[in-house]
Amino acid sequence: MASITVAGTGYVGLVTGVCLAEVGHRVTCVDNNEGKINLLRQGISPIYEPELDKLIVKNMEKGNLTFTTDYKSSYARSDVIFIGVGTPENEDGSANLTYVYAVAKEIAGSVEHDCLIVVKSTVPIGTNDRVETYIKGHLKNNVKVEVASNPEFLAQGTAVRDTLYAPRIVIGTESEAAKQTLIEVYEPFKQPILHMNRRSAEMAKYASNDFLALKISFVNDIANFCERVGANIEDVTNGMGYDERIGNRFLNPGTGYGGSCFPKDTKALHWLAEEHGYILRTVKAAIDVNEKQKYTLIKKARNDFQTFGGKKVAVLGLTFKPGTDDLREAPSIPNIRLLLNEGAKIQAFDPVGIENYKKLFPDQIVYKHSIEEALENADLCFIFTEWPEIKEIDLRLFKVKMKTPYIYDGRNCFESRDMKNKGINYYSIGRPAILEYGVYDKVHV
Ligand code: NAD
Repeated sequence: MASITVAGTGYVGLVTGVCLAEVGHRVTCVDNNEGKINLLRQGISPIYEPELDKLIVKNMEKGNLTFTTDYKSSYARSDVIFIGVGTPENEDGSANLTYVYAVAKEIAGSVEHDCLIVVKSTVPIGTNDRVETYIKGHLKNNVKVEVASNPEFLAQGTAVRDTLYAPRIVIGTESEAAKQTLIEVYEPFKQPILHMNRRSAEMAKYASNDFLALKISFVNDIANFCERVGANIEDVTNGMGYDERIGNRFLNPGTGYGGSCFPKDTKALHWLAEEHGYILRTVKAAIDVNEKQKYTLIKKARNDFQTFGGKKVAVLGLTFKPGTDDLREAPSIPNIRLLLNEGAKIQAFDPVGIENYKKLFPDQIVYKHSIEEALENADLCFIFTEWPEIKEIDLRLFKVKMKTPYIYDGRNCFESRDMKNKGINYYSIGRPAILEYGVYDKVHV
């Protein structure tokens, strides 16, 4: 088995490293964040991801997984180096490649024998070519290096399962040798390997993410329209999803996509297209719809509350989706900012996101460790994440605990009719307000 180093122990790098160790490779995970490496050495994952802790401990004990900040000696002895560092968004929407090039520089100054460098980070089309030229131009030792593209398709919250049982692995290489090396690395996973050139692999990643973002924005657009014409988005998407050409996933309406990928990857591809004199109109539409969708709940709540100043607001769910503690681009953030600016008093609950949220809002929010406490005496409640514990609550709590039961649900956790029967004022996404059977109202749009 090859000796592998993975640069970056975030959602992608850590999961990749751990899963490569799980199938038998000897893997060193490198990060320049000492705090993360110290935790990992104790067998503790710095990120919340189901199954990950267990596999970290198991593979450390087996002796095929180690963690270090000493990139120099790790890169020096590796056959294959994966780059899994972040590529966040620049102010103009383009992808920030600072971290990728920092690792490229460290690799160039450290490698002591021929090796393959595999870029897992999501990078603009053509970046792999440029990273290869850059590394070759900065090599300290007389060795042969080549860069391959191997974009990652995992989803946070199911990252381990997505990696161990991926429907496909995309590899982009410019030589047969690089292709064979990657095929050997991935052979134990027994997954279909799709080979293409580097630029196609880079594009396959952006096109996949942007397509999913577009699917979400399309459903949100239709959901908003449903409210105006008395249609119910859930029935509509059910009707759509049975068509295999459409598929039934990513058809849930909400407060817009968030997370560490869709927002930046839509903007980065749109930016790159413009640089090449092309306007990606569909991707632009996804971005524009999403931007507006973020504030859809506040807009609904404005019908009942002219101002949020002095109001006690319960917020259920802070993370951008269930199953993760990641807050990057979580729709809750701009909404909470707006509420705080208007003088609302916020009491928030999230099963795993609170510690990270405290880094953003250390003392402007009262954090509660149960839904009941968050609802206590609240004038209104916003739901931003469909955590199972939120979906399963006893609906009577809204009536019993809140001062006035006004619920604005961005994830359609409950049935409108059940809420109405309990005397709760309930507004969700893409469902018409029910007056009685067969009679709908287009209020709160
Ligand atoms: P992340 O921010 O969670 O992790 C990046 C890690 O890299 C951090 O731990 C950071 O300390 C480390 N790092 C930075 N500079 C370093 C250096 N010089 N040496 C070693 N480590 C260094 O990022 P992420 O969410 O894992 O995303 C990584 C890449 O993968 C991005 O390009 C992203 O677009 C892509 N991607 C992410 C996901 C996802 O769901 N998060 C899915 C597919 C692809």
